[in-house]
Amino acid sequence: MLELAREQSFEDVKPRPLVAEQRRLLEKLLGDYFASEVAPGLDAEVLAVEQRFRFELDTTTLTGYIDRIDRLPDGHLRLIDYKTSKKLLKVEEAEQDLQLALYALACLDVPELCALGDVSELVYLYPRHLPYGRVARRGQTMTPDLPNRTRERIRGLVDAIVSEQFEFSPTADCKWCDFKNICPRHHLKDVPL
Ligand code: SF4
Repeated sequence: MLELAREQSFEDVKPRPLVAEQRRLLEKLLGDYFASEVAPGLDAEVLAVEQRFRFELDTTTLTGYIDRIDRLPDGHLRLIDYKTSKKLLKVEEAEQDLQLALYALACLDVPELCALGDVSELVYLYPRHLPYGRVARRGQTMTPDLPNRTRERIRGLVDAIVSEQFEFSPTADCKWCDFKNICPRHHLKDVPL
């Protein structure tokens, strides 16, 4: 892991003197993660990392990457998404989050992922949080109705995009937003929500 980290060029980091600090933080994060999670022995078999998926929902193509797919001792699958944020999702926010729900849907609708088996656990891992020597986790319950609920949520989002309904979120973090340059709210802070 450290060798891969050292190959990173951090091209996006500006000003460039910050690269050394970013590199140090990444190596610390990987070291802490290895010591707390990997060295003691993983509780599951890792089947895939950075697993790409692509499937159709009605006329919409959905694509993405699942950070890690584990086979649990009981044969079921666990889907993991790594979060580098310091801020943990609240438990109820994690339950409502769309990202893991989309991954679970991919594991039903992409034949080669479906062939791996049934998903029973959906987990966000926070390597920057190490309470009690373990990284912090947030989960989402894999309920029987989750796939259909997720399909309906995605259909609602697609309809909103097609009809150009873009509501500002009062809690949006503009720092990393790709649309800052064209966003009226970012330039004129008093644009009503
Ligand atoms: S820049 Fe605009 S679109 Fe981007 S997060 Fe901020 S308010 Fe939202």
